[in-house]
Amino acid sequence: MPGMDRHDRELGMDRPIPRRDFLDGIAMGAAGAMLGGLTGCTAAAATGYPPATTGLWGQDDSSYAVMHRLRDGTYWQRAAAPRSSGERYDLVVVGGGLSGLASAYFYRQARPNARILVLEIRRDFGGHAGRNEFRVGGRLLLSNAGTQSIADPATYRPSAKRLIEELGIDVSRFYRYFDRKRYDGLSKGLFFEKATFGRDHFVAGAYERPWAEVFAQAPLSARARADLARIHTERVDYLAHLSKDQKIAYLRTISYERFVTEHAGCDRGVLPYLHDRPYDLFCNGIEAVAAMDIYQAGEDYGYAYPGFQGMDLGDGYGHWQQPDPEPYIFHFPDGNASIARMLVRSLVPGSLPGHTMEDIVLAPCDYGSLDRPGNQVRIRLDATAVRVTHRGDPARAREVEIVYDRGGVLESVLAQHCVLANWHVVSKLIAPELPARQKHYLSFCVKEPYLYTHVALTNWRSFAKLGVSEILAPMAYHYFTMLDYPVDMGGYDSPRTPDDPMVLFMLRAPTKYGLPPRDQYRAGHWELFETSFATIERNIRTQLAAMLAGASFDPAREIAAITVNRWTHGYAYEYDKSLWEHYAPGERPCDLAKKRFGRISIANSDSGGAAYTDVAIDEGYRAVSEQLEETRT
Ligand SMILES: Cc1cc2nc3c(=O)[nH]c(=O)nc-3n(C[C@H](O)[C@H](O)[C@H](O)COP(=O)(O)OP(=O)(O)OC[C@H]3O[C@@H](n4cnc5c(N)ncnc54)[C@H](O)[C@@H]3O)c2cc1C
Repeated sequence: MPGMDRHDRELGMDRPIPRRDFLDGIAMGAAGAMLGGLTGCTAAAATGYPPATTGLWGQDDSSYAVMHRLRDGTYWQRAAAPRSSGERYDLVVVGGGLSGLASAYFYRQARPNARILVLEIRRDFGGHAGRNEFRVGGRLLLSNAGTQSIADPATYRPSAKRLIEELGIDVSRFYRYFDRKRYDGLSKGLFFEKATFGRDHFVAGAYERPWAEVFAQAPLSARARADLARIHTERVDYLAHLSKDQKIAYLRTISYERFVTEHAGCDRGVLPYLHDRPYDLFCNGIEAVAAMDIYQAGEDYGYAYPGFQGMDLGDGYGHWQQPDPEPYIFHFPDGNASIARMLVRSLVPGSLPGHTMEDIVLAPCDYGSLDRPGNQVRIRLDATAVRVTHRGDPARAREVEIVYDRGGVLESVLAQHCVLANWHVVSKLIAPELPARQKHYLSFCVKEPYLYTHVALTNWRSFAKLGVSEILAPMAYHYFTMLDYPVDMGGYDSPRTPDDPMVLFMLRAPTKYGLPPRDQYRAGHWELFETSFATIERNIRTQLAAMLAGASFDPAREIAAITVNRWTHGYAYEYDKSLWEHYAPGERPCDLAKKRFGRISIANSDSGGAAYTDVAIDEGYRAVSEQLEETRT
């Protein structure tokens, strides 16, 4: 294949796995899929069944094609005049993520005969709560494209709790479905990558072996090795001169990086090892997260932060210290995509068969049924809302006009109410009537970017041989890799023996050291926009080959398919960053940004300032309640 050298071929870059690459909106590299004769994996055409899409997925460039032209002010220069579709709805929801689907659900519940339209940019519904399907060696493998689990369901507020229960989800059943013993005998691995540490070094059994042994051969200076072993084990109060309250207040003002170096007395050589640890929760490295925030987080993917053992910061701090925390097991095989699918099943009868939390797992979705004229609720995919305005004075208008773009064709619909369940930055662009001050607050929410990468393997013998089920790889392209969660339900059998095909989850947060959090996210957006799938694929293959070298992993033969779920606009911005921002209750920018404006209300997890499923649902409930309340008064 042109442009490929021997190394690329050893990595398997020329292998005909299904892959799809979109750069500048043009399909570039469907080469694999076109070669035919796929190795053990049935390719899904780029335009086929959405969950079976491989290559670059999540928010591919089609998610932005229209919105970025709106942002840049060039969209209306070339747009044709909208044509009225003649459709009238009680409610139009912009955004088919969990918040938008929940909005439709709550509205229909309050008004059983309501006619509702949901508009969604992507060719799948669910937003972050998407589903990945692979077929390897004739076996179906499922995974979550984004939103992973129902986290801490006991803490859900009434609206989210009620929705989950009414859909038929009984979270207690996951105690049976999630096999917490499946990977017993396998440990956590650490991988020090040559590019950062000078040589590749793999060590199994972190958290099981004495820390001095874990770091004994690590490619770090003798001082850094000793410091790391020390701060993982010693019980020293590094701020013994302060009272508990003073310590807590002080730790909110310094980064974890400063805490480790200035107070725990570690050499700066330990920092690359610790740097990416908060990525999953904060999408920032340790230089940008307050030491106290790190302490409260407690751990990330089970990797606890060292240095707090002797600090006596009190019980109540850090959910890991709660006497009986809920386990992280409330996970469908496709993550919270099952919640989105159950919502769609409820909203559009006939779209997915079945009626239980078990039979949703293998239920095929009839995408053709989602937008039929006879539906009471219609879900229109591939439709980007570009303008939402009242017909007349917003204070008195009885209708809202929503204009959307479908493949360059503009259509309009009318609705009594509109819920913007899209991201805050989008509301600012598509709702021109909103007050300037509100638009200012809407622009605060800079989404936190992530790659949720899934690699389908023909087997996972290399992990078994190395004795690990997950690997932390500080400073590597993907900093965390794990075997997918072992959940068996509704006829779905997750991989069991190392000879079975397996889905690997790999996580990247593109950060830029030293910048304030929101600037890091903006820089991360650009990094992701500009990185081609071929580059990401090469990084994946190179990293897996290096991490699993001790088990002779062959990326060319053992990788069956890759789906990179690009969530450039990922987590909602969370306003709990002690180092950077402090707001009075109810005064966070997200609180001020979500104010109802006439017949338009603003939902989405951005409105709650928290990247959680229940928050997305709760904000949908609030937005719908505002609109219904408005009509009553
Ligand atoms: C990678 C990842 C993992 C996560 N994991 C978890 C988890 O394990 N547990 C948890 O509780 N939460 C998790 N979250 C948080 C997650 O954000 C929420 O759970 C929830 O799914 C967000 O839903 P939403 O509807 O608010 O936003 P989204 O899912 O972003 O939905 C908004 C939708 O609006 C659409 N849209 C935008 N603009 C327009 C327009 N102009 N016209 C039409 N449509 C438009 C978008 O395409 C999108 O589908 C995760 C988030 C990410 C990104």
